[in-house]
Amino acid sequence: MIEAEAVTEDIWAEVDKSVESCSLTHCGFCTFECPMYKEFGFESYTSRGKKLLIKNLRKGRDEDILNLSEFSPNDLEKEFFACTLCGYCDFICAPSSDSQAAVRNTQIFEEIRALLVENGIFPEEDVELCKGIKNHFNPWKGARRTDKKNVAKELIGLGMKDAEKDSVNSILYVGCTTASFAKSTDFPLGNIVKSAAKILSSVDQDVGVLGKEEMCCGGILKRTGFVTAHNPHWSSFEECMTKNLDLFERLEIQEIITACPGCAKTFAEDYKDEMEDLGIKTVHLVEKMVELLDEGTISLGEFPIPMTVTFHDPCHLVRHLARFRQLEGNEYGVEKVVEGPRKVLKAIPNIEFMEVPIYHGFRSHCCGSGAGLNNAFHENALNVGKRRAAELEDCLEKGNHEEKAIVTACPFCNIMLREALRQLGSEKNVYDIAEIVGEALDGAV
Ligand code: SF4
Ligand code: SF4
Repeated sequence: MIEAEAVTEDIWAEVDKSVESCSLTHCGFCTFECPMYKEFGFESYTSRGKKLLIKNLRKGRDEDILNLSEFSPNDLEKEFFACTLCGYCDFICAPSSDSQAAVRNTQIFEEIRALLVENGIFPEEDVELCKGIKNHFNPWKGARRTDKKNVAKELIGLGMKDAEKDSVNSILYVGCTTASFAKSTDFPLGNIVKSAAKILSSVDQDVGVLGKEEMCCGGILKRTGFVTAHNPHWSSFEECMTKNLDLFERLEIQEIITACPGCAKTFAEDYKDEMEDLGIKTVHLVEKMVELLDEGTISLGEFPIPMTVTFHDPCHLVRHLARFRQLEGNEYGVEKVVEGPRKVLKAIPNIEFMEVPIYHGFRSHCCGSGAGLNNAFHENALNVGKRRAAELEDCLEKGNHEEKAIVTACPFCNIMLREALRQLGSEKNVYDIAEIVGEALDGAV
Protein backbone atom coordinates (compact mmCIF):
# COMPACT_ATOMS: atom_id res chain seq x y z
CA MET A 1 0.00 0.00 0.00
CA ILE A 2 1.28 3.45 -0.90
CA GLU A 3 0.75 5.95 1.90
CA ALA A 4 -0.30 9.48 1.00
CA GLU A 5 2.67 11.60 1.99
CA ALA A 6 2.14 14.67 4.12
CA VAL A 7 1.19 17.19 1.46
CA THR A 8 2.15 20.28 3.41
CA GLU A 9 5.88 19.92 3.12
CA ASP A 10 8.37 22.23 4.69
CA ILE A 11 7.99 24.91 2.06
CA TRP A 12 7.68 27.90 4.34
CA ALA A 13 11.16 29.17 3.63
CA GLU A 14 10.21 29.24 -0.07
CA VAL A 15 6.88 30.91 0.68
CA ASP A 16 8.60 33.64 2.67
CA LYS A 17 11.19 34.09 -0.09
CA SER A 18 8.46 34.50 -2.71
CA VAL A 19 6.51 36.95 -0.53
CA GLU A 20 9.67 38.98 0.10
CA SER A 21 10.52 39.00 -3.57
CA CYS A 22 7.02 40.33 -4.33
CA SER A 23 7.45 43.10 -1.75
CA LEU A 24 10.64 44.18 -3.46
CA THR A 25 9.29 43.89 -6.99
CA HIS A 26 5.79 45.15 -6.26
CA CYS A 27 5.23 45.18 -10.02
CA GLY A 28 1.45 44.71 -9.95
CA PHE A 29 1.38 42.71 -13.20
CA CYS A 30 -0.97 40.31 -11.45
CA THR A 31 -3.55 42.94 -10.61
CA PHE A 32 -5.71 44.02 -13.53
CA GLU A 33 -6.42 40.65 -15.11
CA CYS A 34 -7.16 38.95 -11.80
CA PRO A 35 -10.83 37.92 -12.00
CA MET A 36 -11.24 38.73 -8.31
CA TYR A 37 -9.90 42.25 -8.78
CA LYS A 38 -12.42 42.77 -11.59
CA GLU A 39 -15.15 41.40 -9.37
CA PHE A 40 -14.43 43.10 -6.03
CA GLY A 41 -12.28 46.06 -7.06
CA PHE A 42 -9.92 45.63 -4.11
CA GLU A 43 -6.26 44.83 -4.44
CA SER A 44 -6.36 42.67 -1.34
CA TYR A 45 -8.02 39.95 -3.47
CA THR A 46 -5.15 39.88 -5.97
CA SER A 47 -1.93 37.97 -5.73
CA ARG A 48 0.04 41.08 -4.70
CA GLY A 49 -2.56 41.92 -2.06
CA LYS A 50 -2.63 38.39 -0.71
CA LYS A 51 1.15 38.25 -0.55
CA LEU A 52 1.26 41.49 1.39
CA LEU A 53 -1.25 40.02 3.81
CA ILE A 54 0.81 36.84 4.08
CA LYS A 55 3.88 38.91 4.91
CA ASN A 56 1.99 40.29 7.89
CA LEU A 57 0.45 36.96 8.80
CA ARG A 58 3.92 35.38 8.82
CA LYS A 59 5.75 38.21 10.63
CA GLY A 60 8.13 36.68 13.16
CA ARG A 61 6.71 33.20 12.57
CA ASP A 62 8.59 30.02 11.71
CA GLU A 63 7.42 26.95 9.89
CA ASP A 64 3.68 26.67 9.25
CA ILE A 65 2.41 29.24 11.71
CA LEU A 66 0.27 32.30 11.01
CA ASN A 67 -0.14 35.35 13.22
CA LEU A 68 -3.95 35.33 13.09
CA SER A 69 -4.80 37.37 16.17
CA GLU A 70 -4.64 40.77 14.48
CA PHE A 71 -6.86 39.87 11.55
CA SER A 72 -10.59 39.52 11.13
CA PRO A 73 -11.56 35.91 10.28
CA ASN A 74 -14.27 37.26 7.94
CA ASP A 75 -11.78 39.31 5.94
CA LEU A 76 -9.32 36.42 5.77
CA GLU A 77 -12.08 34.09 4.61
CA LYS A 78 -13.04 36.40 1.76
CA GLU A 79 -9.55 37.38 0.69
CA PHE A 80 -8.16 33.86 0.62
CA PHE A 81 -11.20 31.81 -0.39
CA ALA A 82 -12.69 34.19 -2.96
CA CYS A 83 -10.08 33.21 -5.53
CA THR A 84 -10.45 30.67 -8.32
CA LEU A 85 -6.77 29.66 -8.13
CA CYS A 86 -6.95 30.30 -11.86
CA GLY A 87 -3.19 30.68 -12.06
CA TYR A 88 -3.17 33.89 -14.12
CA CYS A 89 -0.99 35.35 -11.37
CA ASP A 90 1.32 32.33 -11.61
CA PHE A 91 1.78 32.87 -15.30
CA ILE A 92 2.31 36.63 -15.19
CA CYS A 93 4.46 36.84 -12.05
CA ALA A 94 8.23 36.64 -12.52
CA PRO A 95 9.03 35.05 -9.13
CA SER A 96 6.25 32.49 -9.64
CA SER A 97 6.74 31.61 -13.29
CA ASP A 98 10.49 31.14 -13.10
CA SER A 99 11.23 27.49 -13.82
CA GLN A 100 13.55 27.50 -10.80
CA ALA A 101 10.78 28.75 -8.49
CA ALA A 102 10.20 26.18 -5.79
CA VAL A 103 6.69 27.43 -5.11
CA ARG A 104 4.06 29.14 -7.27
CA ASN A 105 1.57 31.76 -6.06
CA THR A 106 -1.40 29.37 -6.26
CA GLN A 107 0.53 26.79 -4.20
CA ILE A 108 1.17 29.46 -1.57
CA PHE A 109 -2.54 30.34 -1.47
CA GLU A 110 -3.44 26.65 -1.10
CA GLU A 111 -1.02 26.30 1.81
CA ILE A 112 -2.50 29.36 3.51
CA ARG A 113 -6.03 28.01 2.97
CA ALA A 114 -4.99 24.73 4.62
CA LEU A 115 -3.68 26.65 7.65
CA LEU A 116 -6.82 28.77 7.84
CA VAL A 117 -8.96 25.62 7.71
CA GLU A 118 -6.88 24.16 10.55
CA ASN A 119 -7.71 27.31 12.49
CA GLY A 120 -11.42 27.04 11.74
CA ILE A 121 -11.52 29.79 9.10
CA PHE A 122 -13.29 28.73 5.88
CA PRO A 123 -16.61 29.34 4.12
CA GLU A 124 -19.36 27.38 5.85
CA GLU A 125 -20.61 26.17 2.44
CA ASP A 126 -17.42 24.10 2.00
CA VAL A 127 -18.46 21.68 4.74
CA GLU A 128 -21.04 20.22 2.34
CA LEU A 129 -18.26 19.34 -0.11
CA CYS A 130 -16.41 17.40 2.60
CA LYS A 131 -19.58 15.60 3.72
CA GLY A 132 -20.61 14.79 0.15
CA ILE A 133 -17.27 13.14 -0.58
CA LYS A 134 -17.33 11.23 2.71
CA ASN A 135 -20.85 9.86 2.14
CA HIS A 136 -21.19 9.66 -1.64
CA PHE A 137 -17.62 9.91 -3.04
CA ASN A 138 -18.84 13.13 -4.70
CA PRO A 139 -18.83 16.80 -3.58
CA TRP A 140 -21.89 17.82 -5.61
CA LYS A 141 -25.11 18.31 -3.68
CA GLY A 142 -27.59 15.52 -4.38
CA ALA A 143 -24.97 13.23 -5.93
CA ARG A 144 -25.03 9.50 -5.14
CA ARG A 145 -22.47 6.71 -5.55
CA THR A 146 -24.87 5.06 -7.98
CA ASP A 147 -24.36 8.00 -10.42
CA LYS A 148 -20.92 6.67 -11.33
CA LYS A 149 -22.24 3.10 -11.48
CA ASN A 150 -24.95 4.21 -13.95
CA VAL A 151 -22.47 6.12 -16.11
CA ALA A 152 -20.13 3.10 -16.13
CA LYS A 153 -22.98 0.79 -17.19
CA GLU A 154 -23.71 3.01 -20.16
CA LEU A 155 -20.03 3.26 -21.12
CA ILE A 156 -19.58 -0.51 -20.85
CA GLY A 157 -22.52 -0.78 -23.26
CA LEU A 158 -20.52 1.39 -25.65
CA GLY A 159 -17.55 -0.96 -25.63
CA MET A 160 -15.50 -0.04 -22.57
CA LYS A 161 -14.39 -2.66 -20.05
CA ASP A 162 -15.49 -3.01 -16.45
CA ALA A 163 -12.24 -2.23 -14.60
CA GLU A 164 -13.52 -3.98 -11.47
CA LYS A 165 -13.93 -7.30 -13.30
CA ASP A 166 -11.64 -7.18 -16.33
CA SER A 167 -7.93 -6.60 -16.28
CA VAL A 168 -7.16 -3.27 -17.97
CA ASN A 169 -4.09 -1.09 -18.45
CA SER A 170 -5.99 2.19 -18.67
CA ILE A 171 -9.07 3.63 -17.10
CA LEU A 172 -11.31 6.49 -18.12
CA TYR A 173 -11.73 8.36 -14.83
CA VAL A 174 -15.22 9.85 -15.22
CA GLY A 175 -15.00 12.42 -12.42
CA CYS A 176 -17.65 13.66 -9.98
CA THR A 177 -18.92 16.60 -12.04
CA THR A 178 -19.56 14.60 -15.19
CA ALA A 179 -21.20 11.76 -13.23
CA SER A 180 -23.48 14.16 -11.33
CA PHE A 181 -24.71 15.88 -14.48
CA ALA A 182 -24.69 12.88 -16.81
CA LYS A 183 -28.48 12.90 -17.14
CA SER A 184 -29.05 16.63 -16.70
CA THR A 185 -30.95 18.39 -19.48
CA ASP A 186 -29.58 21.81 -18.49
CA PHE A 187 -25.98 20.60 -18.32
CA PRO A 188 -25.82 17.37 -20.35
CA LEU A 189 -22.30 16.30 -19.43
CA GLY A 190 -22.92 12.58 -20.03
CA ASN A 191 -22.15 13.16 -23.72
CA ILE A 192 -18.55 14.00 -22.86
CA VAL A 193 -17.72 10.56 -21.53
CA LYS A 194 -19.91 8.81 -24.11
CA SER A 195 -17.87 10.56 -26.81
CA ALA A 196 -14.67 9.65 -24.96
CA ALA A 197 -15.80 6.01 -24.84
CA LYS A 198 -16.58 6.09 -28.57
CA ILE A 199 -13.14 7.51 -29.41
CA LEU A 200 -11.17 5.24 -27.06
CA SER A 201 -13.11 2.08 -27.89
CA SER A 202 -12.58 2.68 -31.60
CA VAL A 203 -8.83 2.27 -31.12
CA ASP A 204 -8.05 0.56 -27.84
CA GLN A 205 -10.08 -2.17 -26.22
CA ASP A 206 -8.04 -2.06 -23.07
CA VAL A 207 -9.71 0.93 -21.40
CA GLY A 208 -12.04 0.39 -18.47
CA VAL A 209 -14.27 2.35 -16.10
CA LEU A 210 -14.46 2.05 -12.32
CA GLY A 211 -18.18 2.60 -11.68
CA LYS A 212 -19.23 2.96 -8.06
CA GLU A 213 -15.67 2.24 -6.89
CA GLU A 214 -14.53 5.53 -8.42
CA MET A 215 -13.64 7.87 -5.55
CA CYS A 216 -13.39 11.64 -5.87
CA CYS A 217 -9.84 12.68 -6.86
CA GLY A 218 -9.92 15.03 -3.85
CA GLY A 219 -8.78 18.03 -5.92
CA ILE A 220 -11.56 20.26 -4.60
CA LEU A 221 -10.50 19.43 -1.02
CA LYS A 222 -6.88 20.32 -1.78
CA ARG A 223 -7.96 23.62 -3.37
CA THR A 224 -10.26 24.53 -0.47
CA GLY A 225 -7.75 23.66 2.25
CA PHE A 226 -9.30 20.44 3.62
CA VAL A 227 -6.06 18.54 3.28
CA THR A 228 -5.92 16.54 6.52
CA ALA A 229 -8.73 14.91 8.52
CA HIS A 230 -10.56 17.39 10.78
CA ASN A 231 -13.85 15.72 11.47
CA PRO A 232 -14.92 12.06 11.20
CA HIS A 233 -17.92 13.08 9.07
CA TRP A 234 -15.86 15.08 6.56
CA SER A 235 -13.53 13.69 3.94
CA SER A 236 -10.07 15.14 3.36
CA PHE A 237 -7.67 15.32 0.43
CA GLU A 238 -5.37 12.79 2.09
CA GLU A 239 -8.22 10.32 2.56
CA CYS A 240 -9.21 10.58 -1.12
CA MET A 241 -5.63 10.18 -2.23
CA THR A 242 -5.03 7.08 -0.12
CA LYS A 243 -8.27 5.45 -1.32
CA ASN A 244 -7.51 6.20 -4.96
CA LEU A 245 -3.93 4.94 -4.74
CA ASP A 246 -5.05 1.72 -3.04
CA LEU A 247 -7.60 1.12 -5.78
CA PHE A 248 -5.19 1.88 -8.63
CA GLU A 249 -2.56 -0.38 -7.09
CA ARG A 250 -5.03 -3.24 -6.53
CA LEU A 251 -6.30 -3.05 -10.11
CA GLU A 252 -2.76 -2.61 -11.50
CA ILE A 253 -3.74 0.46 -13.48
CA GLN A 254 -0.97 1.94 -15.61
CA GLU A 255 -2.69 4.92 -17.23
CA ILE A 256 -5.47 7.27 -16.17
CA ILE A 257 -7.31 9.13 -18.89
CA THR A 258 -9.75 11.81 -17.82
CA ALA A 259 -11.79 14.52 -19.52
CA CYS A 260 -11.72 16.59 -16.31
CA PRO A 261 -8.74 18.97 -15.99
CA GLY A 262 -9.32 19.16 -12.23
CA CYS A 263 -8.80 15.40 -11.88
CA ALA A 264 -5.87 15.50 -14.35
CA LYS A 265 -4.08 18.25 -12.44
CA THR A 266 -4.70 16.53 -9.11
CA PHE A 267 -3.34 13.16 -10.25
CA ALA A 268 -0.43 14.61 -12.23
CA GLU A 269 0.70 17.24 -9.76
CA ASP A 270 -0.71 16.59 -6.29
CA TYR A 271 -0.21 12.79 -6.46
CA LYS A 272 2.97 13.10 -8.52
CA ASP A 273 5.44 11.15 -6.35
CA GLU A 274 3.01 8.38 -5.43
CA MET A 275 1.85 7.95 -9.04
CA GLU A 276 5.46 7.74 -10.17
CA ASP A 277 6.12 5.07 -7.54
CA LEU A 278 3.21 3.05 -8.92
CA GLY A 279 4.27 3.71 -12.52
CA ILE A 280 0.95 5.36 -13.42
CA LYS A 281 0.75 8.01 -16.13
CA THR A 282 -2.02 10.64 -16.19
CA VAL A 283 -3.30 12.13 -19.42
CA HIS A 284 -6.13 14.50 -20.17
CA LEU A 285 -8.40 13.30 -22.97
CA VAL A 286 -7.28 16.23 -25.12
CA GLU A 287 -3.70 14.94 -25.03
CA LYS A 288 -4.88 11.44 -25.82
CA MET A 289 -6.91 12.63 -28.82
CA VAL A 290 -4.02 14.72 -30.17
CA GLU A 291 -1.71 11.71 -29.78
CA LEU A 292 -4.15 9.42 -31.65
CA LEU A 293 -4.53 11.95 -34.45
CA ASP A 294 -0.79 12.60 -34.72
CA GLU A 295 0.03 8.91 -35.05
CA GLY A 296 -2.83 8.45 -37.56
CA THR A 297 -4.74 6.00 -35.35
CA ILE A 298 -7.90 8.06 -35.77
CA SER A 299 -8.88 10.38 -38.57
CA LEU A 300 -11.48 13.08 -38.64
CA GLY A 301 -14.10 13.70 -41.30
CA GLU A 302 -16.63 16.42 -41.94
CA PHE A 303 -18.65 17.84 -39.04
CA PRO A 304 -22.38 17.27 -39.77
CA ILE A 305 -23.21 21.01 -39.92
CA PRO A 306 -21.10 24.07 -40.73
CA MET A 307 -20.25 25.66 -37.38
CA THR A 308 -18.09 28.50 -36.12
CA VAL A 309 -16.35 27.70 -32.86
CA THR A 310 -13.93 29.25 -30.44
CA PHE A 311 -11.99 27.45 -27.72
CA HIS A 312 -12.08 28.30 -24.02
CA ASP A 313 -8.90 27.06 -22.32
CA PRO A 314 -9.68 25.67 -18.86
CA CYS A 315 -7.34 27.11 -16.20
CA HIS A 316 -6.59 23.69 -14.74
CA LEU A 317 -5.63 22.42 -18.15
CA VAL A 318 -3.36 25.20 -19.37
CA ARG A 319 -2.06 27.18 -16.42
CA HIS A 320 -1.87 24.16 -14.16
CA LEU A 321 -1.35 20.89 -16.07
CA ALA A 322 0.50 22.26 -19.12
CA ARG A 323 2.40 24.84 -17.11
CA PHE A 324 3.41 22.30 -14.48
CA ARG A 325 4.82 20.07 -17.19
CA GLN A 326 6.53 23.02 -18.85
CA LEU A 327 8.17 24.05 -15.57
CA GLU A 328 9.44 20.51 -15.26
CA GLY A 329 11.06 20.93 -18.66
CA ASN A 330 8.44 18.87 -20.49
CA GLU A 331 7.23 20.70 -23.60
CA TYR A 332 4.76 17.88 -24.25
CA GLY A 333 2.16 19.72 -22.16
CA VAL A 334 2.26 22.85 -24.27
CA GLU A 335 2.29 21.04 -27.57
CA LYS A 336 -0.59 18.73 -26.71
CA VAL A 337 -2.63 20.72 -24.20
CA VAL A 338 -2.38 24.31 -25.43
CA GLU A 339 -1.82 23.92 -29.17
CA GLY A 340 -3.51 20.51 -29.40
CA PRO A 341 -7.19 21.53 -29.22
CA ARG A 342 -6.66 24.22 -31.84
CA LYS A 343 -4.94 21.77 -34.14
CA VAL A 344 -7.83 19.32 -33.72
CA LEU A 345 -10.57 21.89 -34.36
CA LYS A 346 -8.79 23.38 -37.37
CA ALA A 347 -8.43 19.89 -38.87
CA ILE A 348 -12.20 19.24 -39.02
CA PRO A 349 -13.89 20.19 -42.31
CA ASN A 350 -17.03 22.34 -41.77
CA ILE A 351 -15.61 23.77 -38.52
CA GLU A 352 -14.46 27.37 -38.65
CA PHE A 353 -12.12 28.17 -35.75
CA MET A 354 -11.95 31.68 -34.29
CA GLU A 355 -9.39 32.64 -31.63
CA VAL A 356 -10.21 35.09 -28.82
CA PRO A 357 -7.73 37.95 -29.26
CA ILE A 358 -4.99 38.01 -26.60
CA TYR A 359 -6.88 36.07 -23.91
CA HIS A 360 -6.33 32.51 -25.04
CA GLY A 361 -3.91 29.74 -24.08
CA PHE A 362 -1.84 30.70 -21.05
CA ARG A 363 -3.52 34.13 -21.04
CA SER A 364 -7.07 32.79 -21.12
CA HIS A 365 -9.53 34.43 -18.75
CA CYS A 366 -11.02 32.18 -16.08
CA CYS A 367 -14.68 31.02 -16.24
CA GLY A 368 -15.09 31.55 -12.48
CA SER A 369 -16.00 28.07 -11.34
CA GLY A 370 -12.73 26.76 -9.90
CA ALA A 371 -11.30 26.15 -6.43
CA GLY A 372 -14.59 26.39 -4.53
CA LEU A 373 -15.59 29.90 -5.69
CA ASN A 374 -18.73 28.59 -7.38
CA ASN A 375 -19.71 26.75 -4.22
CA ALA A 376 -19.11 29.44 -1.62
CA PHE A 377 -19.46 32.62 -3.70
CA HIS A 378 -21.80 31.59 -6.50
CA GLU A 379 -22.95 35.08 -7.59
CA ASN A 380 -19.35 36.28 -7.89
CA ALA A 381 -18.39 33.13 -9.78
CA LEU A 382 -21.29 33.67 -12.17
CA ASN A 383 -20.23 37.29 -12.77
CA VAL A 384 -16.77 36.04 -13.74
CA GLY A 385 -18.43 33.47 -16.00
CA LYS A 386 -20.57 36.14 -17.68
CA ARG A 387 -17.50 38.28 -18.43
CA ARG A 388 -15.75 35.32 -20.05
CA ALA A 389 -18.87 34.16 -21.92
CA ALA A 390 -19.37 37.68 -23.34
CA GLU A 391 -15.76 37.73 -24.54
CA LEU A 392 -16.18 34.33 -26.22
CA GLU A 393 -19.47 35.45 -27.80
CA ASP A 394 -17.86 38.59 -29.21
CA CYS A 395 -15.24 36.44 -30.86
CA LEU A 396 -17.86 34.12 -32.37
CA GLU A 397 -19.82 37.05 -33.86
CA LYS A 398 -17.05 37.54 -36.43
CA GLY A 399 -17.51 34.00 -37.73
CA ASN A 400 -19.18 33.11 -41.02
CA HIS A 401 -21.49 30.25 -40.07
CA GLU A 402 -24.96 30.70 -38.64
CA GLU A 403 -24.35 27.95 -36.07
CA LYS A 404 -21.90 29.15 -33.44
CA ALA A 405 -20.64 27.43 -30.31
CA ILE A 406 -18.05 27.59 -27.57
CA VAL A 407 -15.85 24.52 -27.26
CA THR A 408 -14.00 23.69 -24.09
CA ALA A 409 -12.41 20.65 -22.44
CA CYS A 410 -13.66 20.81 -18.86
CA PRO A 411 -17.00 19.84 -17.32
CA PHE A 412 -16.75 22.69 -14.76
CA CYS A 413 -16.19 25.34 -17.43
CA ASN A 414 -18.95 23.72 -19.50
CA ILE A 415 -21.51 24.19 -16.71
CA MET A 416 -20.43 27.73 -15.89
CA LEU A 417 -20.36 28.92 -19.51
CA ARG A 418 -23.80 27.40 -20.18
CA GLU A 419 -25.25 29.13 -17.14
CA ALA A 420 -23.52 32.41 -18.02
CA LEU A 421 -24.72 32.34 -21.64
CA ARG A 422 -28.30 31.77 -20.46
CA GLN A 423 -28.03 34.71 -18.10
CA LEU A 424 -26.77 36.83 -20.96
CA GLY A 425 -29.80 35.78 -23.02
CA SER A 426 -27.67 33.90 -25.51
CA GLU A 427 -28.77 30.66 -27.16
CA LYS A 428 -25.28 29.61 -28.17
CA ASN A 429 -24.28 26.11 -27.26
CA VAL A 430 -21.26 24.82 -25.35
CA TYR A 431 -19.55 21.58 -26.40
CA ASP A 432 -16.70 19.58 -25.05
CA ILE A 433 -13.99 18.97 -27.64
CA ALA A 434 -14.55 15.21 -27.18
CA GLU A 435 -18.12 15.66 -28.48
CA ILE A 436 -16.86 17.48 -31.57
CA VAL A 437 -14.22 14.81 -32.24
CA GLY A 438 -16.78 12.04 -31.59
CA GLU A 439 -19.07 13.53 -34.28
CA ALA A 440 -16.22 14.06 -36.72
CA LEU A 441 -15.12 10.41 -36.38
CA ASP A 442 -18.39 9.39 -38.06
CA GLY A 443 -17.58 11.55 -41.08
CA ALA A 444 -14.14 9.97 -41.59
CA VAL A 445 -13.70 7.82 -44.69
S1 SF4 B 1 -5.23 32.69 -8.80
FE1 SF4 B 1 -6.49 33.94 -10.23
S2 SF4 B 1 -8.18 34.69 -8.96
FE2 SF4 B 1 -6.58 34.00 -7.54
S3 SF4 B 1 -5.34 35.82 -7.13
FE3 SF4 B 1 -4.35 34.77 -8.84
S4 SF4 B 1 -5.23 35.76 -10.70
FE4 SF4 B 1 -6.56 36.28 -8.94
S1 SF4 C 1 3.15 39.81 -10.40
FE1 SF4 C 1 4.14 38.64 -8.70
S2 SF4 C 1 5.82 39.98 -8.00
FE2 SF4 C 1 4.45 41.28 -9.22
S3 SF4 C 1 3.06 42.15 -7.69
FE3 SF4 C 1 2.05 40.29 -8.47
S4 SF4 C 1 2.63 38.67 -7.06
FE4 SF4 C 1 4.04 40.39 -6.70
